[in-house]
Amino acid sequence: MFADDDPRLSQLLEGIVRLASGDLTSRIEVSPARDELDAIIMGTNLLAEDLQIIYQELEQRVQVRTQLLHEAHLEMQKMAMQDPLTGLANRSALIEALRTALAGQSAPDEAAPDEGPAILLIDLDGFKSINDSMGHTGGDQVLVTVGERLRSAVRESDVVARLGGDEFAIVMPSASVDQAAIVASRISAALSDPIELPGRSVRCGASIGLSIADDGQSPEDMLMQADVAMYASKAEGQNRLHRFEPGLLLMRRLRSQLVEDLRAAIKNDGLTLYYQPVVELGSGRIEGVEALVRWDHPNRGFIMPDEFIPLAEEAGLISDLGHWVLRTAVKQLRAWIDASLVDQRFSVRINISATDLQSLQFIEDVRNVLQETGVKPHQVVLELTEVAIVRGNELDRYSLGGLRGLGVGIEIDDFGTGYSSISYLRRLPVDRVKVDRSLIAGLDTDPSQPALVAAVLQLVRACGLEAVWEGVETAEQAEILRGLGCLSAQGYYFSRPVPPGQIPALLAGQPESANQ
Ligand code: C2E
Ligand code: CA
Ligand code: CA
Repeated sequence: MFADDDPRLSQLLEGIVRLASGDLTSRIEVSPARDELDAIIMGTNLLAEDLQIIYQELEQRVQVRTQLLHEAHLEMQKMAMQDPLTGLANRSALIEALRTALAGQSAPDEAAPDEGPAILLIDLDGFKSINDSMGHTGGDQVLVTVGERLRSAVRESDVVARLGGDEFAIVMPSASVDQAAIVASRISAALSDPIELPGRSVRCGASIGLSIADDGQSPEDMLMQADVAMYASKAEGQNRLHRFEPGLLLMRRLRSQLVEDLRAAIKNDGLTLYYQPVVELGSGRIEGVEALVRWDHPNRGFIMPDEFIPLAEEAGLISDLGHWVLRTAVKQLRAWIDASLVDQRFSVRINISATDLQSLQFIEDVRNVLQETGVKPHQVVLELTEVAIVRGNELDRYSLGGLRGLGVGIEIDDFGTGYSSISYLRRLPVDRVKVDRSLIAGLDTDPSQPALVAAVLQLVRACGLEAVWEGVETAEQAEILRGLGCLSAQGYYFSRPVPPGQIPALLAGQPESANQ
């Protein structure tokens, strides 16, 4: 036994308090007595030992976990700054790089006054059609290759980013206008080599916008300016570089105003259709008319389709426009039929865009308008450009089949300007081609031209199709075509496109023999 005042008791108590306060390394001294109290002390020390081991293990585990969490966080941060497809920087990373470059911009340098952070915004030309025709895997491969080429065309210290879609950007921490222009031309050169994909090689140019930092500019400002400049490059034609100028902002504002006006015009019947006769060469009979859209703009007057159709395409308004044209033209035909101005042989030709062809809704629209008006399907002919059909994918062919199934006519427009192979032409569900007017331009002046026209006619017929010749401007051209055995033609010589009100007079003016 031990006495109540045994000093080891208080040592034991102090030791337990130390342990309890977290000092797991502390131990309580064992006396030489080796009695019961020492046994308790030894037991307490053993417990402390165990506790220390457990605690150390826990601590180690927590450390490992923390390290893992930290690494995961870094990885996430990296991913948040990276474009997953190309491994390039993404938009956030680009903005950050610009911010850093702007912050580090030294005071204006005497030697190089206009050197500052510069950004090049690069938008691929024609990527959409590659993507549509090659499928998304092919499209992705093009984007990855472009990313690699951009990376190798610039310095290590320049940041290359993909902003999304087919838009890339490069931040140069410090560059003069001339230096940036040199980099831009290096980029154009790097992109001019064809990109090899399985079974096909494609070329992808780029429109480039440049912005060089001004005092007190934000990264967002610079990016916006480069974007405005890039649009100016696009508008001027492909494969160009444009530097931002304040005047471009005004152009951009006018353009978005025009888009808004167009949206309203489509909705509120602000557009009109003109009609141009298609004439049977042998008899002079008007066999149909082509509907050509016009926009009577409240302030700007008449705007021609070559100007606003591309705008409608870009602004995503083309489907609405196509829908309006289709309904208006077929209803007009109904009105002419009701007025006994035309018979069942008469057709109205409607231009449709590649976008229309890709939308299944369009087939529904055609079906509906035929049903509503009771117009016979063969009296409606849809004109599609060669490019739209040839670049087409499976869906397009399906839509073409669907339209064909409704019984409407399908004609390839601008034939001879695209690149369709003959074998391809034979497989398409179309029944006519409209030969582009460039083919008959020199018909009455160039002695070799009639032979070419004859050859094209033969080729078209060999494919089981018939041809309409557009752009006939003189009596000689019409006569040569007729002599070569061409059946139908269209052009200023017969009539310019006219408002619907003038069509009855044109119909009435047909040769007597054509009226039967
Ligand atoms: P397109 O389908 O090739 O239409 C023929 C164009 O040639 C028309 O120009 C027409 O006015 C013009 N033209 C007709 N005869 C002659 C001629 O003898 N000589 C010359 N030099 N030109 C002639 P427009 O009306 O300005 O249309 C231009 C293009 O706009 C059309 O080319 C077509 O691609 C597109 N377009 C017109 N209307 C529509 C539409 O409703 N929807 C769609 N998606 N596109 C349309
Ligand atoms: Ca046409
Ligand atoms: Ca044409």
